[in-house]
Amino acid sequence: MTRIKDALDAVAAAIIAQKDYLTDLDRQIADGDHGINMTRGFQAAMDAVEEMDDTTKPGPVLETIGRAFIHNVGGAAGPLYGTGFIKAAAVCDEDTKLNVASFEKLLGAAIAGIEKRGHAKKGDKTMLDALIPIHACFLPENAEGKTLFEVLQDASHAAKEGVDYTKTIAARRGRASLVGERSIGHEDPGAVSSMLMYRALYNFLRK
Ligand code: ADP
Ligand code: MG
Ligand code: MG
Repeated sequence: MTRIKDALDAVAAAIIAQKDYLTDLDRQIADGDHGINMTRGFQAAMDAVEEMDDTTKPGPVLETIGRAFIHNVGGAAGPLYGTGFIKAAAVCDEDTKLNVASFEKLLGAAIAGIEKRGHAKKGDKTMLDALIPIHACFLPENAEGKTLFEVLQDASHAAKEGVDYTKTIAARRGRASLVGERSIGHEDPGAVSSMLMYRALYNFLRK
């Protein structure tokens, strides 16, 4: 995947298209702004990347996306996704190309950063309940012999299972934790936005 800027545009478009859906999900268990926050973050990210001279290397592009999220999005998810992008950028070097092995490393670093910043873990009903199963698809034992496209297909399914799992549990982190048990039966908005991002990458590579 050499077209990282195009991939960003595809992911941003998918999230922006689901703005109202993400906001509705968030309204059911929290403050109803997740779609607004994510739209603002991706819009700012696309604007910032547009200003870059060289968008051929994943590291600086991911760093720019992360900063855009941190500087432009309030709430929990903006800084958390921002941290994820910046941590992913930090494990890139000059020669990093987006493939199964580098994705595994980047996403692993992103998840570790999100966990550290948000003090959440698997089962707390957050974006991590989609991101961790997505990451598992990239691990050598699961990705052996598969193309990036095939792994992204697995990841889309794993993300959906993660989202479904969030319906069965009560939120222990973020605003939704304020309603506790009442959040059971509802999808976590951040898990859904993570799923949408990976689905968008999968659809992007399909083209
Ligand atoms: P806010 O909750 O501040 O309004 P958003 O609505 O944009 O921010 O994002 C909410 C999402 O952020 C949740 O659905 C959840 O996935 C994620 N989230 C909230 N707190 C945490 C946390 N501590 N760690 C990981 N993810 C979190
Ligand atoms: Mg919210
Ligand atoms: Mg909010």
